[in-house]
Amino acid sequence: MSEDLFLKIINREIPADIVYETDSVLAFRDINPQAPLHVLVIPKTHIRTINDIGAEHTALVGELFTAAAAIAAEHGYADDGYRVVMNCNEAAGQTVFHIHLHLLAGRSLSWPPG
Ligand code: 5GP
Repeated sequence: MSEDLFLKIINREIPADIVYETDSVLAFRDINPQAPLHVLVIPKTHIRTINDIGAEHTALVGELFTAAAAIAAEHGYADDGYRVVMNCNEAAGQTVFHIHLHLLAGRSLSWPPG
């Protein structure tokens, strides 16, 4: 079995509503959406937290953002706007330890976040 939940989604061991995929990136709808569009964008490589991102990952992390922008545009949110956020460790609310961008769109998003 895979060592983390999102690797299980990558390996199709558990189902997900996949909206975008490349050789290196996968994106799927969050199971508990916080906005009309709430997609998680993940690398297919296991990286536990932002603290574990190394120089060898910079292109891959860039791809997470270009993927998020492409998904937002595909769903019609490029001009209205959207939010991407990545939580790091417990104090920020990270619960799945495989880095993921949250892409949130479709409602007005307040700032600062809770
Ligand atoms: P975090 O709290 O780590 O920043 O975000 C983890 C996200 O993963 C949460 O928004 C949670 O709803 C989502 N999540 C947890 N388990 C699953 C699952 O099995 N499938 C999907 N699609 N999302 C999940």
